Amino acid sequence: MEKHYGINIWADNNFIIKNNTINVNHKRQPSLLKITQTLREQGHTGPLLLRFPHLIKKQISTLYTEFNRAREEFNYQGKFQAVFPLKVNQFSNFIQSLREVSKTYNYGLEAGSKAELIIAMTHTPLGAPITVNGFKDKEMISLCFMAASMGHNITITIEGLGELETIILVHQEDTNALIPKIGMRIRLHSSGIGIWAKSGGYTSKFGLTSTELLEAYDLLKKNDLLAQLWMVHFHIGSQMSEINPLKKALREAGNIYADLKNRGAYALSAINIGGGLAVEYGQYPHKKEINYTLAEFANDVVFLIKEIAKNKSIEEPDIFTESGRFIAASHAVLIAPVLELFSQDYQEKSLRLKEINPPLVKELNDLWQDLNRAKAREYLHDALDHMESLLTLFDLGYIDLEDRSNAEILVHLIIKKSILLLSDGSQELLKLQNKIQERYLVNFSAFQSLADFWGLKQHFPVMPIDKLNIKATNPSSLWDITCDSDGEIPFDETAPLYLHDVDIDNEEYFLAFFLTGAYQEVLGMKHNLFTHPTEVSITFDKLGDFKFSNLVEAQNTLEVLEDMDYKKKYLNQKLTSQIENASLISPNKKNELLKQLHIYLNENSYLKTVIATG
Ligand SMILES: *Cc1c(COP(=O)(O)O)cnc(C)c1O
Repeated sequence: MEKHYGINIWADNNFIIKNNTINVNHKRQPSLLKITQTLREQGHTGPLLLRFPHLIKKQISTLYTEFNRAREEFNYQGKFQAVFPLKVNQFSNFIQSLREVSKTYNYGLEAGSKAELIIAMTHTPLGAPITVNGFKDKEMISLCFMAASMGHNITITIEGLGELETIILVHQEDTNALIPKIGMRIRLHSSGIGIWAKSGGYTSKFGLTSTELLEAYDLLKKNDLLAQLWMVHFHIGSQMSEINPLKKALREAGNIYADLKNRGAYALSAINIGGGLAVEYGQYPHKKEINYTLAEFANDVVFLIKEIAKNKSIEEPDIFTESGRFIAASHAVLIAPVLELFSQDYQEKSLRLKEINPPLVKELNDLWQDLNRAKAREYLHDALDHMESLLTLFDLGYIDLEDRSNAEILVHLIIKKSILLLSDGSQELLKLQNKIQERYLVNFSAFQSLADFWGLKQHFPVMPIDKLNIKATNPSSLWDITCDSDGEIPFDETAPLYLHDVDIDNEEYFLAFFLTGAYQEVLGMKHNLFTHPTEVSITFDKLGDFKFSNLVEAQNTLEVLEDMDYKKKYLNQKLTSQIENASLISPNKKNELLKQLHIYLNENSYLKTVIATG
């Protein structure tokens, strides 16, 4: 395994390893283990979502600092402005923290639906920018007018000519009302790359073609609205792994901006480059997802726009970003308890060797007893060969289930020990690890908490939060607790995960999934009716000790069912009457069961305790 689970690649110094634990690299540097244990002592079971507001602050301030540094470096005249795109994380506790930590910046919000617009209108200080993207009906456009009248600094980005016509209509219905500022989203001919690239390019869902841009310009002019047109907008897609597509898009957008300006769009003064700034999720050097730094990104943006402004003799526009993933991803960490290990039955103590064993089983046992470093590779090959033969013999009825079980255990033991003895990182050994992988059953739902893993195979950094002073040697795959085989993070030979041997009956073992703060929460689905885990914000007091706030418990079972339109009362009555009317239950027992039932219904539906191994 890459040393320390690749923490130098993905953690950005937000977390550090101290002795045996991974710790928050802030104030008194508490370990995630200590935080987790404290929460569990307070009775919170199941998976836990930890939010770290100081990391939201870090990202916002880094974004502004880097862009302002680049502006100074290139003597750039336009301002830098930013909004947070709500679709990345609309959860109240996240947005509240975002507002608190961004007070010194004129940081705004971006909305893509009516509900998001209401969040923006209620959570953006007057003066800070609100941008409104996505498809809009008349009602949504009227809401934007309302926001403008309230004094909000709001920009409607038009995605199509129809929206512009609606704006004109709403304006004509009350010509005294304040008009929101207008932006035009352009349909780029260049597009992004990677699994999120669909937002750019000719076939993109969004934006105006060059012909439509000219028509929009004419429409605005005809209706005396050119004073409102101040922004050109594009967004090439999320998680840009390299910077070249952005440069291409910028040249295109910059020239469109300049031509519109020179044509007579006198109020134009901002280019909005959308989001797309990527987050490093990789845990191995060869799995890195980004080939640029934020500094480079900011330099390129500022430099390119400056160049275009110079060539086309226009003033340098304000630069706007709508980076979401970059701001939100690092603030949330999912902690999930391991419930069980699934291949521990392959242990020497489980062997049921007979007085007289079939010759191949006997030979396997001899190989196992004699195994040493010098012989490891040869014995390994022999063992694999014998296993094939033994399975054939079993199918033909020549050996029995006990023989087969013995053979499986012995082969497993031989592979495992040989890999340790050889440990030469060869392809052959990596492939074999697949065979002996340990399956960790983890108390979480991948559908609920890692939706992009399910939908797009996005990797999220994962590691144990304890035992980091011990070398982990089990090649591992992770199973979630849904009854769906897609809820598995398989062992990947190209980026293997190694975890520790743990005796879950006697000790706890937690895994942490990092960088889950962007998109995952709201995309998360209630497959099998597992809900958003218990969440809590972690802040630090004057002494630097951590404290909890904004704790929201996972929904309990009855609440989950209510969300699915079941009536709580009906469920309660039905269950109660089934117990009361059951002739097989004694009257004393009935009361006890009713009490138990009450507790179960009011707890969350994640698993409580270790499942008894069968
Ligand atoms: C989704 C979206 C963003 C945010 O993109 P990130 O990759 O998360 O930074 C910004 N702008 C628009 C228009 C979007 O649709």
